Amino acid sequence: MSEKMNVDALFLGPKSENQVFFKEMMAYAIDEHMHWRSDFHPEDAPLVSPVAQHQPDFRDTLYRTEGILNSLSARLKTKSVPWFSPRYLGHMNADTLMVSNLAYVMTMMYNPNNCAHEASPVTTELEIEAGQDLCKMFGYDVNKAWGHITSGGTVANYEGVWVARNVKTMPLAIAEHEGAKDLVAGMTEHQLLNMNTTKVLDLTDELKKRGIFEEVRALSARGVGVKPGTLGKFLVPRSKHYSWMKAMDVLGIGQEHIIPLDVDANYRTDVEKMREITFKLMEEGTPILGMVSVVGTTEEGSVDAVHEVMKLRKECEEKYGASFYVHIDAAYGGYVRAMFLDEDNNFMDYDALVARYREENIIPEGVTWPKRDVYDAFEAMAEADSITVDPHKVGYIQYAAGAVAMKDKRIVDLISYHAAYVFEESDDDQNGEQNVVLGSSIMEGSKAGATAAAVWAAHRLVPLNISGYGHVIGRGIVTADWFANKLATAEPLVVQGRRFEVRPLMHPDFHMVNFTFKEIGNDSLADHNRLNQRIYELCSYASGRTYTKDFLTSSTSLSVDEYGQIPSTYAKSRGFSDQEWEAEGSVYILRSAVMTHFLRDEIRFNNYWNNLQEVFTDILTEIVDEENKQSKVHSAA
Ligand SMILES: *Cc1c(COP(=O)(O)O)cnc(C)c1O
Repeated sequence: MSEKMNVDALFLGPKSENQVFFKEMMAYAIDEHMHWRSDFHPEDAPLVSPVAQHQPDFRDTLYRTEGILNSLSARLKTKSVPWFSPRYLGHMNADTLMVSNLAYVMTMMYNPNNCAHEASPVTTELEIEAGQDLCKMFGYDVNKAWGHITSGGTVANYEGVWVARNVKTMPLAIAEHEGAKDLVAGMTEHQLLNMNTTKVLDLTDELKKRGIFEEVRALSARGVGVKPGTLGKFLVPRSKHYSWMKAMDVLGIGQEHIIPLDVDANYRTDVEKMREITFKLMEEGTPILGMVSVVGTTEEGSVDAVHEVMKLRKECEEKYGASFYVHIDAAYGGYVRAMFLDEDNNFMDYDALVARYREENIIPEGVTWPKRDVYDAFEAMAEADSITVDPHKVGYIQYAAGAVAMKDKRIVDLISYHAAYVFEESDDDQNGEQNVVLGSSIMEGSKAGATAAAVWAAHRLVPLNISGYGHVIGRGIVTADWFANKLATAEPLVVQGRRFEVRPLMHPDFHMVNFTFKEIGNDSLADHNRLNQRIYELCSYASGRTYTKDFLTSSTSLSVDEYGQIPSTYAKSRGFSDQEWEAEGSVYILRSAVMTHFLRDEIRFNNYWNNLQEVFTDILTEIVDEENKQSKVHSAA
């Protein structure tokens, strides 16, 4: 089935090339639903009569409905962002899968609520299946793991912290309970607070056997709250998404208990420094509540060395008898794990993988991907306690679809509000199904079953392996490589005798390409940042003009507050002095997630690049003209 998958047949297309099919299926979705309505007790008489439908106020209501939709459409068409076009290379957005769009609309008509199985008999099951797909992709044992859909990566990260917090406080709760304390007899507080997750969950099994699980759980953070400063530190790379700050706040842990981990020149967590800090905390007896690794940093697309984190945890367990919770924030990069899996869900051997990339022209000769440590990082994801992933990013599914996967589903009982053991198999299948009340075991309550259908449908059409998502994601990766190489070697653009040279921040781990334009001869980093900020404004809707944009991108600022001295490496490579860096303390960069699958053809890409250089020349001309005008005003004044 999957062998014949054609990537261009998955999307509507920038010119709606697949519109005939799309419209047909959209009409099918709606027709089917209407048949379903009329077939429900066909003996029931219609309740709105044609006579009533011809009353003036009735017709007026329909006219006004149409009018509102007219004005909505006008507003949407005036100011929406054209993700579908290869002219858009900015945030993690591109065209979305037709199958997901259609599954969403089809399901939306039934309006299922995945809060509870009884409100979504079909889509709760689809959500569980989609969650299993993701667990499988991450190398988890599907029989033991658990995954579900969230509104996005933010909530998935909250849930990671939520379970980590509750797991962390269970051993202390056990030590406090008369009927349970024998289970942890002789352990110090430090050992209790640093217990390995599996061990904690094994203890909860014992509590369940003794019938005191709920009582003990009530003594954990869930019941008694977090006593300030008792849970230790949460180690998060400086490259973190700001949802981590929100998570510390929302879950009562406090932002000051984050230890930011420095990043290296590739914007990955600096392994040496991570080890140093971890060992220091171990030596001084400060517990580690959790460690976060980012697979695909939001700003740079960098992939942390997950394998080094896992190695470090093992070392700590052996040397100090102390462990810590590991959560991977793969909101951006999670689906990339499909690039490494064969059709039997095996993580492929490196050489076999590269051979297949060449054979199927997924990654051609000359494109450096994957770097060896990126490969190792993806392989090690299977050892993490939990993982955030966003289907609405690299899953090419429309909003709002995030997800979280957990390695050991017993962990859900620590946050659940249903009677415990919600997901235990029941003897009676029917009963087992009805037991599933997602809303009581996850952070959110009511939510669209349509989202679950959209994610589920995507996974059925585009398998989570090399022959499915591998082909889709691979296109962006290759294009990003080409793009970064063009940027690295491009001749300066000349505008009215002034020369502007573009250079990438680095060669990407994934498909985020960052770059800046520098005016040759300008030594002021402040001016440099202003120039790039202005370019961004002219390449976005920030300047308010619509339909005039030839190229759209996003931007960010790499500042000393967030990254320490690391961005100075790039500033220096661009010729700015230490003093300039000290004074300015940030580098403003243009940021392009290359998700489009349309440029994966060398001739097409070269044409695109040539056109892009013209676009940039026009933009720089506009900026130079603005400056000339301003200096005239100045000299006149
Ligand atoms: C996008 C992103 C998030 C937040 O996800 P939302 O879906 O926007 O809530 C968290 N972490 C990383 C690394 C991200 O890229």
